[in-house]
This record gives sequence, C-alpha cells and structure tokens, in this order.
Amino acid sequence: MSGIIQLLPDHVANQIAAGEVVQRPASVVKELIENAVDAKATEIKLIVKDAGKTLIQVIDNGSGMNVTDARLCFERHATSKIRHAEDLFALHTKGFRGEALASIAAVAHVELKTKQEQEELGIHIIIEGSKLVTQDVAVLPKGTSFLVKNLFFNIPARRNFLKSDNVELKHIIDEFERVALAHPNISFTMISNGSEVFNLPSSNYRQRIVNIFGGKTNEKLVPVTEETEILKISGFVGKPEFSKKNRSEQFFLVNDRFIKSPFLHHAIMSAYEGLLKDNNQPSYFLYLEVPPHTIDINIHPTKTEVKFDDEQALYAILRSTVKHSLGMFNVAPVLDFERDATLDVPYHYKDKVLDTPIIQVDSTFNPFAIETEPKKSYSSGTSSSSVSYTKNTISQPSWESLYTDLKQDTFEVASVSFENEVVASKLFDEEIVESQTLMYQFNRKYIIKSMKSGLLVIHQNRAHQRILYEQFLTNITVLHASSQQLLFPLEIQFSREEMMYLKEIQPNLEGIGFAFEKMGLDVAVISGLPAQIADTEVNSILHDLIYNLQENLPEDSFSLTDSISKFMARSVAVKTGKYLNTAELENIVNGLFACKDPNVSPFNKPIFITLTTEDLDKRF
Ligand code: ADP
Ligand code: MG
Repeated sequence: MSGIIQLLPDHVANQIAAGEVVQRPASVVKELIENAVDAKATEIKLIVKDAGKTLIQVIDNGSGMNVTDARLCFERHATSKIRHAEDLFALHTKGFRGEALASIAAVAHVELKTKQEQEELGIHIIIEGSKLVTQDVAVLPKGTSFLVKNLFFNIPARRNFLKSDNVELKHIIDEFERVALAHPNISFTMISNGSEVFNLPSSNYRQRIVNIFGGKTNEKLVPVTEETEILKISGFVGKPEFSKKNRSEQFFLVNDRFIKSPFLHHAIMSAYEGLLKDNNQPSYFLYLEVPPHTIDINIHPTKTEVKFDDEQALYAILRSTVKHSLGMFNVAPVLDFERDATLDVPYHYKDKVLDTPIIQVDSTFNPFAIETEPKKSYSSGTSSSSVSYTKNTISQPSWESLYTDLKQDTFEVASVSFENEVVASKLFDEEIVESQTLMYQFNRKYIIKSMKSGLLVIHQNRAHQRILYEQFLTNITVLHASSQQLLFPLEIQFSREEMMYLKEIQPNLEGIGFAFEKMGLDVAVISGLPAQIADTEVNSILHDLIYNLQENLPEDSFSLTDSISKFMARSVAVKTGKYLNTAELENIVNGLFACKDPNVSPFNKPIFITLTTEDLDKRF
C-alpha cells in the first residue's frame, strides 16, 4: 500500500518559502540590492514603478554570472557564498541562504540579464512563477540587471494585502537607505515613477549621511570612535538639541549590515540621559564591527535581528563611548546663532514680547503729603499673544441666551471688594480685573465665563483646536481659504521621505491657504500661509504634521483630509500655559459656540463644563 506523504513540487515549496522572504516590494528591493553589493558592484541603480507593485529593477556593474550560474541562481539553496556550515560563522557577505532569488521568481515575472567581464556575450533569461520562459544570449554591458514585474501575480490574497503606494514606497526607501548607509563607497541612484529620489555619489560615511538626510544634517553630527578587542565603533550621533520626535534617524550597522537592536538602542538612550527634552529621540548612525564568529545573524529570516555573544559588554562600551563623545562636543555651550532662542526662556514667558520698561516719575509726589487716594496701579503693557483666528460672521447662536441678564450679574460680582489689593493682583491678571466682561483666564488653561445660571469652564486649548479644525476642514473641502502672501518666501528643509509626504498632501495644504513656490528634493519654498499660522511656526507645524501622518497614514482621501485638519489644528491651537488677553478670550468663546460641534475636541475630549448655581450651592 502506498503512503500518503508526498514531496512538494519545487514551485510549491518555493512559494511557501517566498512567504518568509518576500513580504512586500521592499523585501525584493533589499535582496536584489544586497546581491549587487555582494557582487562587488561600484554602481547600483534602483528603478521602481507604483511603489514596486508593477516593477522593480536593480542594475549593477558587478561581477555578473556565467550561463550555468544564471540558471542555477533561481534554484533554492543555490548560493555561491557558503560551502560549509562553518562558513556561517565567518560571513562577509549579505546573502548566504540562497533562497531569495528562488522565492522572488516563484511569485513574480523575473527577467535577468547578466554578463561577466571576460565574456563576449551575456545571457538573458525570463522566468515566470518559477517556470523558465526563455533563455537567450544577448549583447550586454558587464554586470547584472534583475527586473521583477507583477509581484504576487499568482497570489492575489498577498497582492491585496499590500498597503497604499505611499506606505510601500516608504518601506522601499527604508531598505534603500539602510544599504546605502552601510556602503558609502558604492554609488546609488533610485528612481520612482520616472523621477529621481536619490542620487548618491561614492563618498565617505559623513557625506553619505548628509546626502541621504539633507544638507542641514552635517552640523548635527558628533563623531564617535572607539576600538576595543571585541568591538570597534565609528560613526556619528546627533547633538541633543537636534533630537526629533520620531526614530527615523537611528541606525546600527553591524559588520556593514543594518540591524535592529532594542538592547543597544537602550544603551544609546542611557548615554543621552538628561540631555533630551520631552521624550525626543536622538539621531545616530553607528557602525559597529565585531568578529564575525561572535554574532549570529541567522536567527531572523529577513536578517535584521542578530544575536551577540557578549551583549552586556557591548552595551557598556557603547554607552560610555557615546557619552564621552557627547561630553567632548557639548559640555561647553556652543554659540549658535541659528538656535531658537525661545527654547531658553521659561515656559510662561516664552511667548511674551518683552516691553521696554517705562520709568514713570510722579513729579507731583510729595512724601510728606497726607495720602488721600489709593495708589494707581499701572497695567503691565499690552499683551503679546496672538491668537490667530479669523472672525466669525455666523449669526448669534442660541447659547448666547445663556447670558441674558448678564448686566445684573456684572453688577453683583463687580461689587465684591477684595480685602487686599496685593493678593488680588497676584490671583488675577490685572487687565482682567479691570475688564468688565466677566470672562477670565484661570491658570493659563481655562476660560471662566459667568452665565446667568452659573459658570462655564472652557479648556482653552481644546476649544481652539475645535475652532481651527472646523475651519481647516471647510477650507480643504471647498478649496477656498485666505492666504497671506509672504514678503520673503520661507525655505524649509525636509528629508527626502518627508518631502514625498509633503508632495502627497500639497493639494490639501493649498486648500488651507499654503502656497508653495518650489518643491525640491529636500527643500520646500513657501510663499503663502494660512491666516491662522505665523511664519515662525511653519517649520515645526509642517514637520509635526508629516510625522503624525507617517505614524497613522490614512488610506482614503476623506480620512486624509480629516487627519490633516485635526493634526494641524492640534499644533496650531493656543497651548495651555499661554496668556490670552480679553479680545482673544472672547474670540475663542464666540468661535467655539459658532462651531458645529462645540462639545468635544477633534480628538474627542470634552471642551467645557458648566457649574450651575445649584452645583455650587450644594457645596456650601
Ligand atoms: P544568496 O544571496 O543568499 O547567495 P540569492 O538567491 O540571493 O542567494 O542569490 C543566489 C546566487 O546568485 C548568489 O549566491 C550569487 O552567486 C548569484 N547572484 C545573485 N545576484 C547576483 C548579482 N547581482 N550579481 C552576480 N551574482 C548574483
Ligand atoms: Mg541574496
């Protein structure tokens, strides 16, 4: 009787293996570029269409393959990189499993063109779903070109599982950057849908980092070097003042291979202890060299996690080396004219314009005269805060009826006499005591407004978020916003990746009132701004927005519009801790109650509460 066990046909086995190696277009990019590096190429070109879903091509000028190898390379466990199990412990190449090309060929249409230097002619092979379609000789330059079309053509479920082009392209760029950072001596170019994303000439480590992350990166970098028996460190860490909200500039390259290591990341974070503000993340580009036999890169199929023999020792060396470098370069405060000086001013005062003190001399003052009138108190100058806010023309909403009979209330409260003027002026901002609007700011956080039936307590930040959110949303949707033209256009630096997002949301931003004069590879020139945004804030607002969108990228255009309005409102809104003058308080209260939904913030938090007279009575 025959058994029931069968050997799987090769193409099925390959498809199963592909599930591990090829998760998305970016995995193909990684494998092909790494093969080109292993083939000792000095120039590598990556071309993608539709984020790699339609086409991925990698062209190199490396060693090339002969006819036999060109056919063999698509077999599983076909590799030129190891022969014995022991070789695994002395790896100097990226690949070693011999699985990548077999896996890719199982789930895509692949075209290979390759020629070795000494050969007259090259070879041209087409393989679709592991099946050889054609094999010809061809006139070719030295090197190899792999063209991968219609990824997952035979696994529709996989294809449907792919994310939007934006997300997939971001993964591709991540992989591209990781290999490019590890090999600055190789020149790399990347082209996406016909336009150049990167053009990185052969250079040194520092220059490569700057070429990838933009011109401004150079001034941020602090060099790090250390050499011990078990670990050699070189590379750069970012000065603490340039730390960012996200982790997009953190790279460990161990023996020229990008790796992820939460453990070593922790070592770096502890070296920065006390130097970073509000949970910011430092940049680091660290090249570690360890003896090949002390690491195991075999534990993860896509090889981004490694295991070190002596993690504790590496941790300690890394931590102290980084700490030392930061100390050497940062102990003395650097005079840096580009630094945002407002960072140095305490919380409450940073938004205030400093008034020149005016000396007022009372020429009629006579110390011997008997005092008949209480001393006048001078208002402490005009407020400097500027709540950007466009005037609302919507007719008086019904909530205003809450305020009828306000005059009477005014009278009652105004007649309260304070026991002591000094205490009073400490408790309340003078300007507010003077005003008769019965609206005041409490703790620079809440707006308290008295009503006929009690008190209204409004969260200033959330209220302003709501107002701005509704304004932005309407403006993006109806595409009609007022824009203030700038006298001098602003030039703002972005990373390549950030620039891609910016281009993607450009129409939405123009809807809100932004005007872009130029969109470069890593710089945007802005010539107009929405009325609600001050030119000093644009830089951080746009960076924040892109960061937030990267973290939670919406799939459809409605939610994109909604997210942009939300995040933008959050970063533009007046913050807790900001002093508001009477006009600004009024603008916020009126604006809020003219909103469609004044109850909750765009992030669904309550905006105000009411305290009725009964509530208060109960407490007495
Ligand atoms: P691995 O890289 O793990 O050896 P791959 O499936 O990625 O496995 O590649 C199989 C073999 O094909 C490699 O070992 C190498 O000999 C050859 N090869 C792949 N890509 C190239 C290339 N761009 N240039 C020259 N040889 C290549
Ligand atoms: Mg490989």
